[in-house]
Amino acid sequence: MRLRSGVLAAGCLLLQALGVAIFLRGFFPLTVRARPRGDSRGESPAEPAPPGPGAVSNWTKIPPPLFKKVVIVLIDALRDDFVFGSKGKQFMPYTTQVIEKGTSYSFIAEAKPPTVTMPRIKALMTGSIPGFIDVVVNLNSPALLDDNLIWQAKTAGKRIIFYGDDTWVKLFPKHFVEYDGTTSFFVSDFTEVDDNVTRHLDRVLKREDWDLLILHYLGLDHIGHVTGPNSPLVGPKLREMDNILKKIHISLLSKEGEASLPSLLVVCGDHGMSETGSHGGSSEGEVHTPLLFISSAFEKRSGPLTQPELVQQTDLASTLAVGLGLPISRNSVGNLILPVVGGKTMREQLRFLHLNGFQLSSLLKENTPAYEKGKSSKKTIYKRMINVQRRMEGELRRAQTYKGGYHDGFDTYKEMVGNMKVTNPVVSSSSWSEVDVLMLAGTIGHVLSLGASSFIEEEHQTWYFLINTLCLALCQELCRNHFLLKECDPQHGTSLKQNFDGIGEASDCKNIDVPASGNSKLDKVASSAELIKGSDKWISLASPWIILICCRLLRSLNQTGVQWAHRPDFGHWLTSSEHKSELSFLAAVSLVMIFFLVQRRCSLVSKIAMALGLLGVYSYRAAIGNVVFPWQHDSKDISKGITEARFVYVFVLGIVFTGTKDLLKSQVISADSSVKSTGLWEVYSGLVLLAALLFRPHNLPVLVFCLLIQTMMTKYVWRPLKFDAAQITIMHYWFGQAFFYFQGNSNGIATVDVSAGFVGLESYVEIPAIFLTAFATYAGPLLWAIHLLCYLSSEVSRNAAAVGHGCFCYALMRSIPVAIYIVLVTGLRYHLFIWSVFSPKLLYEGVHVFITAAVCLFFTAMDQNHSQKVQD
Ligand SMILES: [Zn+2]
Ligand SMILES: [Zn+2]
Repeated sequence: MRLRSGVLAAGCLLLQALGVAIFLRGFFPLTVRARPRGDSRGESPAEPAPPGPGAVSNWTKIPPPLFKKVVIVLIDALRDDFVFGSKGKQFMPYTTQVIEKGTSYSFIAEAKPPTVTMPRIKALMTGSIPGFIDVVVNLNSPALLDDNLIWQAKTAGKRIIFYGDDTWVKLFPKHFVEYDGTTSFFVSDFTEVDDNVTRHLDRVLKREDWDLLILHYLGLDHIGHVTGPNSPLVGPKLREMDNILKKIHISLLSKEGEASLPSLLVVCGDHGMSETGSHGGSSEGEVHTPLLFISSAFEKRSGPLTQPELVQQTDLASTLAVGLGLPISRNSVGNLILPVVGGKTMREQLRFLHLNGFQLSSLLKENTPAYEKGKSSKKTIYKRMINVQRRMEGELRRAQTYKGGYHDGFDTYKEMVGNMKVTNPVVSSSSWSEVDVLMLAGTIGHVLSLGASSFIEEEHQTWYFLINTLCLALCQELCRNHFLLKECDPQHGTSLKQNFDGIGEASDCKNIDVPASGNSKLDKVASSAELIKGSDKWISLASPWIILICCRLLRSLNQTGVQWAHRPDFGHWLTSSEHKSELSFLAAVSLVMIFFLVQRRCSLVSKIAMALGLLGVYSYRAAIGNVVFPWQHDSKDISKGITEARFVYVFVLGIVFTGTKDLLKSQVISADSSVKSTGLWEVYSGLVLLAALLFRPHNLPVLVFCLLIQTMMTKYVWRPLKFDAAQITIMHYWFGQAFFYFQGNSNGIATVDVSAGFVGLESYVEIPAIFLTAFATYAGPLLWAIHLLCYLSSEVSRNAAAVGHGCFCYALMRSIPVAIYIVLVTGLRYHLFIWSVFSPKLLYEGVHVFITAAVCLFFTAMDQNHSQKVQD
């Protein structure tokens, strides 16, 4: 019956994973897409229709183009300070000169989150704001069906040439007369992606047979993902871009004498990058991109640049439409950027404004009835998005004025937990320990907090609070165990005895029956006292405090969440290029510590493999330029580190294979539990090595502290206090969740480190890339889960069904929040923050359920092995 509980849990979790998958499929309506007005052709891919004939008046007839040729240079992840800041002055001298003294207009274009490439290209070309779903289908971009600038240009007979990110080719499959798409998946490629674009440039600039040239450079984005915005690689890349802009500008100018109309060069970014080099979120660095218009039609600038004006990214579509003499895209919410047409007469400018206003008002008219009828079309979502953004600003501002709000919330929460303790003193001494009450209140409190967007954005605070409180409760438990026992007060002894008695039945997984261990309870307490003698006792008492200090240090390593994510943290300090030697030192020390914390329970072969593997991790980081060897004085070529990474993979596979072999041996040949625990530990250390390879070097201390806390907890807290399987499981789960955030993760998409998916791969391979990214993201919870299995199976001598109980409890801890969250999200589907806060969290939860299901299957397999042995 006990065995069945574990299998049942794994089965239920698999069923839930399936359910979540179906829910996600329905929740994100992939196929719903607004058809252009009056289009009822059904299945056939609809091209947007030109404005209806009734709408044309003298005033809305399209005026002639202002520019003959337009070149758009899109530099992926170009942040505003790369051009307007000190980096721009240093590395982009030509562009800076044009901005300050040339015929140009510069702006900062604000991108709306999600700051991911495909939705941003759509925003630039349609002038509308794509919904959340565009992030999900970002990897599989289907053709853009909404009215857009490219389609309008093609319809008007303009010849468009495109080179760069192949997302464009997927979005506009038949629109370019000539194109060369480069895949954006391989993020550790810094040069080839850009050379692929530039090699066409000389030829195409000489030709006359095009009207619109679009170049999308990916190298800077890739550098950001792998090495961050302060990396030494950013400067040379910016210089390369500056030279390209110079070449294009000079070539355009040289042809202008012949042409009747001037040309226009537009330089923009699709999004910026955060301080860690990723993007997707809404931090200032991610949303602010430069937007430059350079043309001889403009007036010469006289002085140095003052702060550029802030415009919306969506404004580009309407401005370019006017510039090219095209109708403004129907769904555009952008405004014409007036300075660009400032050289025209007042009457002409008025006409452009009228066109823009007319398009905006018809968009409003078109959308209002649909909105009132509550039709679930994309336009409704889109309308809601605009509302969202308008109100989000207000909300954020309000949230910022109530900065203390979170603290207040947590104080109330703390009080709530505190009250429960105070009101239950009698109960706690008889059947419920403080730890039990805390775990129950914490679990319920966390689940309830999922209904509030702020608690989701700052979920790490909940977990940090819970594990800190847990440490305090454990400290109290340890003190009672040590000091009360020493006094040998029979009454206390009895209450302690009852207390231990109660832990079994009163944990919040009540439905698990805990088998009475052979010894009487008093023996158990006495033996635990024997275990801890002399200095060990003091280490034991100090351990919760040491763990608290570790948690504090980890907390300052990565700022996460939304409210304080932009604050400088230790991780940023380490990754900046001036602190490379400090980072190298820290990484080396961390790797040595990882070795000492992991090796003691491995076999000799695994020990050697582990040492070589960790050495390989350092060489990999040195090869890609994150860290340096002491004898190395920069000026070393930076490579992709393919060989080094594969070297480590070999050892990861070797260690995991040795572990699996041991596990099989323990199952088939001998019933020796020590072989089994060595096997499990080897699998675990193989995963630690993989995590060490995939984690960014400044995150290696996270891994060290993870191992350190696990070792201390096992030796000084869990073993002596003899917690039961359910309690141990909950504590592991809590720490696992906290480590998810210690790693720098958040509930936003921006913090997913996609570069992990490319470690050691020559080109983009979908399955390994997804596996590696998922592993790197969920490494914290995963390592704690596997450690739980190691711990529980070492405890089987004390409790034969420990693994089964652990599995059951782990499944429960994971599935209850997910089940309740899905209900909450369904109820909140019209909430203001549904796309910005609740949906990303839903995706995180979904993936986590799949991972937990896999872990539980592993648990069940281990449990069955054991039960077979017992039957033998
Ligand atoms: Zn991008
Ligand atoms: Zn990117």
